[in-house]
This record gives sequence, structure tokens and C-alpha cells, in this order.
Amino acid sequence: MASAPPVQRGIPPLPFAAPDSHDAALQQLLEQASAQLCAWLASASQRPPLPGLSVMPAVEPHQQPQGSAQLLSDLQLVMDGAYNPGHPGALAHLDPPPLAASIVGDLIGAGLNNNLLAEELSPSLTRLERSLMAWLAERLGLPAGSGGVPASGGSLSNLMALVTARHSRGLACCGEAVVLASADAHVSLAKALTVMGLPPQALRQVPVDDSGAMEPALLEQQLAQLQRRGIPVIAVVATAGTTVRGAVDPMPEIAALCHRHGVWLHVDGAIGAVFALSDVHRSRVQGLERADSLTLNPQKLLGITKTSSVLLLARPRLLEQAFGTGLPYMEPSWSGGHGGESGLQGSRPAEVLKLWLGLRQLGLVGIEAVLDGAVARRRQLKALLGQISQLRLVGGPLHLLAFTPLRGDAASAERWSVRTRQQLLAADLMLSRPLYAARHHLKAVMGNPHTGAAELERLAGVVAASLSPCP
Ligand SMILES: *Cc1c(COP(=O)(O)O)cnc(C)c1O
Repeated sequence: MASAPPVQRGIPPLPFAAPDSHDAALQQLLEQASAQLCAWLASASQRPPLPGLSVMPAVEPHQQPQGSAQLLSDLQLVMDGAYNPGHPGALAHLDPPPLAASIVGDLIGAGLNNNLLAEELSPSLTRLERSLMAWLAERLGLPAGSGGVPASGGSLSNLMALVTARHSRGLACCGEAVVLASADAHVSLAKALTVMGLPPQALRQVPVDDSGAMEPALLEQQLAQLQRRGIPVIAVVATAGTTVRGAVDPMPEIAALCHRHGVWLHVDGAIGAVFALSDVHRSRVQGLERADSLTLNPQKLLGITKTSSVLLLARPRLLEQAFGTGLPYMEPSWSGGHGGESGLQGSRPAEVLKLWLGLRQLGLVGIEAVLDGAVARRRQLKALLGQISQLRLVGGPLHLLAFTPLRGDAASAERWSVRTRQQLLAADLMLSRPLYAARHHLKAVMGNPHTGAAELERLAGVVAASLSPCP
């Protein structure tokens, strides 16, 4: 990199961009790295979704600085061993290929190196973040005045929601309080309770019906019982898009029950809330606008680069009441609060940049096209697998589909899942192998925009062969 004025003889120039002249070395490094990344992305379909073991570069800094050529060739080794989300057969998880403008958002965010902790460390970005959170909340149908904060992942959004709910209900010091969620809710809720110092049994599971959605009648029973026994409730968590099958809890009924019992409703929409960004798809997650708090993960289907999660609240001020400490080493806020006062994280990168650029690059039409494509592929796969009579399909209204053999015990389903996943990998198709309802399934997530009919047909072929008796 270009050089600051030499301070001491014998010390090489430090690799910080020159503040007073064009830094040709920096530009060259960025261009070479971009070219290397573009080559990696462009060859995605020639490499398997899950690479084999790769050679690792040296990890320790040497005595002398490494030049760009060495850095880039070491970087290539890591890239060679990276998971390959751009392969059309990468269907295992909620990790799609990256949206173009969102890659740029990450790069520029790093270059600006601002800090969302405080306004004076991120003046324009703090305002951008606040405005975008308000727009998202409005677009999802939350009441006027709603807003929120980005978080490093949905687990953190869920944790902040539950801490805020507990604080707002005056239960911060109550060790008896409980959280209710469906039996299919995400594991991050259990983790949140651990962090909150609550015992595992504080998470009360409400059974689900055949479609994987919470049974509101059973929720009502549990709420009434807790009330009779004087056990306080921190929140009910409704899931909009469960992790294995993409089921959606009946949020209008759950919201009505929460309203009647005066209980906080948190919607874990890490998977499904993005569907409410589109007028066409909003009905798939009906009722989510009645949440007191809502988790949304743009990193999961929209392809915003990780991490991108958002916690939205009908009353965003409650975040500051739960987490505010005062920031004695900062200038007072001049326009609506410091980022570090409205959530658990302190220093925080400008994740808003890649979300803002990504959403604007897609436009509402593009967002809808992403959702359309994902749902259409799930339908196509469901139609293909539906022709295999020995298979039980478990899905929902979103873009996930899991399946397991109809017959045989749990042990044989597990053996089938291991064997079939291997056969699929050999055909460059990567699915995941969740344990669901005490039985191993294979799960396909149809969020990859590169997946076409050829992959789906190949997938159905391998699965059909896995169940037919040996000749
Ligand atoms: C993925 C997921 C989460 C957690 O999100 P992370 O970003 O992985 O922390 C929470 N809830 C649901 C329903 C999810 O699918």
C-alpha cells in the first residue's frame, strides 16, 4: 500500500490507504481480489456444492510482511475449500448465493469502517439504518412508529426480543416466568433462555398439528392454566416458517389470544417474514403485523450477505428501555438515539448498507421474483416427489420441503437418510438431514435461484431409486 511519511528507517510502509493521494496499490489489490472472487463465483457450477478437504494456508503471521501475491494465493486456498452456495444443486440450508449489490455493501462498509455504536462514529449510516428499519416495519404492516435494529443473526434478534419483552412486563428479575412456543420452534429460543438465566423448562412447548403449525386451542389451554397458577408469561413466540418444513403458525388466532391474555407476541419470522414484503405472497404469513416484536432474516432467502437479520418492534423505544445504559464516553445523541443503546451489541458494522443496496437493486419486482421462484421450485419438487408412493412429504406454504420413507422404523429411516444424502452428493445435489418428529428426513430448501428443472428431476430420480427394492 502507499506510504505514510517514513517514521523510522527500516520499518516498511504500513498498509493503510494513503489519506492524501490515490493509493494505486490498494486499488490494484481490490481489483485483483474482485477478479478472483468473480472467477470463483463464475465457476460455481463446475465445483460440487460441498468441496472435499482442501489444502490450508499458513495461519500465523510471518516475521516479515506478506505481499499481495502471497495473500491472494493463500486466500485462494481458503476459497477452494469454501461451501459453494452458487451451485445449482446447493439445496441443503437457508444459505442462498449472495446478491450482487449486497457484496458491494459489505466491501464499502468495510472500507468506511464506521461503527453503529454511536452517531458520531456513523452519522449517515445511523440515519440510513433507522429509516430503513422504519420502512421495513411499515412495509410488513406494523403500526405507525414501529422500528428496530439490525442484529448479527436471527438468534440474536430472538434473544433481544425476549429480553425486551421480559423487561417491558416488569419480569426482569422473575425466575419463574415462562416463554411459550411451538414444538417446532427454533433452537435459538432455548439458547436465549439460557442467556436470560432461565431453566430449560421455562420454554413451554405447544404441540403442532399435522401441518406443523401451533395448535391455538392448546395454546389457549396452557395460557389459562398458567394464569390460574399465577405463573407469569414473558412472551408467546409464533413461528412464521419453521426450520425443517416452513410451517407457519396461525398468527391471527395467536395474536387474539395474546391480546386477550395481555401477553407479548414475538413472531420468529427469520424464514417467513420476507414473504410479507410482497403483496402477492403476504397471505402466506398472515397476521404477522400484529406482533409486538418480529425477527426477519434477509440473509436467508433474499441473498443479502451474512449476517443480515433485523428485529422490528411495534414500540421500538422499549429496546432502549431494556438495553440503554447511557454511553458516558460519547457525545449525546442529536437525532434519535445511539445504535449501541438500542440493543445488545455494542460496536456493530454497517450491515444496513448491504441490505439497503440489495433491496434497492432487486426492487419490489425483484423481491417478488425471488419469492415466486422459491415457491414455484418447492411446488415442482413436491409434484415430482409426490409421485413416489413410498415417501412421506412434510412441507408448508413457503419454500421448504422435507421427506422420509413412509415405512420402516426410525433406525431404518436414519440409514436411508445417510445413504441417500451420499447418493445425492455424488450427483452434485446437497440436501440436509434433519431429525424431525423423532425420524430422520431429507430436507430441500428451494431458495437457490440457479436451481432448475434438471436438478429437481435428478433429485427425484435419486430419491425414487433409493426406495425401490434392489433388482
Ligand atoms: C435460522 C433461524 C433462526 C436463527 O437465525 P441465525 O441467523 O442462524 O441466528 C431463528 N429462527 C428460525 C425459525 C430460523 O430458521
